[in-house]
Order: sequence, then structure tokens, then C-alpha cells
Amino acid sequence: MTQNLLSRDNLPGLHYQLRRSERAKKTRIVVSDGKIEVVAPPKVSEQRIKAFVHAQRDWIETALKRLKQRAQTLQPLAPAHYAEGVTVPYHGLQIPLTLKTTSARYPKVQLLPEHQFLVYLPQHATENQSGLIKLALENWMKQQTRRQAQDYIELHSQRHQLQPRSLRIKTQKSRWGSCGPYNDINLNWLLILAPPIIMEYVIIHELCHVRHKNHSQAFWQLVADHMPDYLQHRQWLKQHGASLMHGL
Ligand SMILES: [Zn+2]
Repeated sequence: MTQNLLSRDNLPGLHYQLRRSERAKKTRIVVSDGKIEVVAPPKVSEQRIKAFVHAQRDWIETALKRLKQRAQTLQPLAPAHYAEGVTVPYHGLQIPLTLKTTSARYPKVQLLPEHQFLVYLPQHATENQSGLIKLALENWMKQQTRRQAQDYIELHSQRHQLQPRSLRIKTQKSRWGSCGPYNDINLNWLLILAPPIIMEYVIIHELCHVRHKNHSQAFWQLVADHMPDYLQHRQWLKQHGASLMHGL
């Protein structure tokens, strides 16, 4: 349906990549990640494409500027350095961190009922404490993700017999979840940084792929049957996803 990159053209100061697409009805410009891609139907001449891009110059520059601004205002949720008193993202909250030492050989993480993280560090752990704390928190959160995801699966799988074959908790840089051809569900543990309803939405989404391996209307209807206000949570994820993907 789409051909790979055919040519690269340079107008002065304006670098864009040209992609020919059988599906494209007319030439359009896609700006993302500071890159400009021009998608054109197979038969439009390079000359016309060049003229089109040139005419859209102002629009392109505005779009690039807006993307750059958005990237700069992207707030990392996690602290740059883990130490006593910083706050750690979890369940859509920022939870203060307290440190204690332990004679045990490995760090241990506790989430106290009054919303406080308590991390026990081995006494000998003096080098790269921040890295050790971060790793301990990550491991703890992955375990929590599995537990909570299993609860949501239990809650939602009965109603329409949407049984996954397995659940894997993964670290992924670009996806929140997936459901394979044999109904193996992968879930990105970074979802645990978001409010719990967001993970519930992603679980429902993947469970519905057990029935429909597509995003058809029937698929979305099944999602809505489990979560009538799913659109708002899907929207939340689109809006905050990039911050979450930064991780701890
Ligand atoms: Zn999907």
C-alpha cells in the first residue's frame, strides 16, 4: 500500500522526506519529532510537490515551533535524583520518599497507608544510592503492576469470556499494551504511574482484542460495554503518555 522512502528533497533550510502512498488522495505534510514528511499520491510530480511544500512553509514552521515548545514543557514525573524527601510518581500521585537502613542485603520498598514510600537500604550501600533506590522502586512497581493487572483481568474477563492466555509485564518505550494472536497480553508497567483507572482502561482494551483483533466499531462497543466513559481515559493517556513513558 505504501512505498518506502523514494527521495529526499531539500528546499533551502527545509528538509523533508517524501513518501509515496497509493492510499493518499492528495499531497499532505506530516510534522512530528522535528521531522517533516510529505506524503504524496504516486503520480504527483516532484516539481509540484516542491511547490506545494514551499507554499506551506509558514504552516510548517509554526507546526515545528509548536512541537518544540511542547517537548520543552514536558514535565518529567520522576525526580532527577532519588533521595530522602523527594516525591515519587505512583497511581497519578506524587508520594514522598523516606529512607531507612537495614541489615538485610537487598533494598526493600514499602508503601505506607498514609501515602509515603519507605525504602530500606542495606547499610553498605553508599555508592550510587539514587540508582539503587530507583531500581528497588521499579522492581516493586512491576510486581504491583502484575498484581493490579490480574485483579482487573479477573474483574472484566468473565462478562464476555475474554480470557487471555498469559500476562507479561514489560518495559516498553512506545506502547501501553498489546494482545497477540494467541491472546497473550503484554502490559507496560509504567501504567502504574497513572491513575488506576488508566490501567483498567488499557486492560479492558487488550481483553477486548481477545474477541476482536482490530479497532472496528464492534471492538469499541465492547470496550464501552465494560467502561462507558473509556474515551476520557483514552484521551488522558494520549495527553500524558509521553510524561509517563519517561519512567522513573
Ligand atoms: Zn488496540
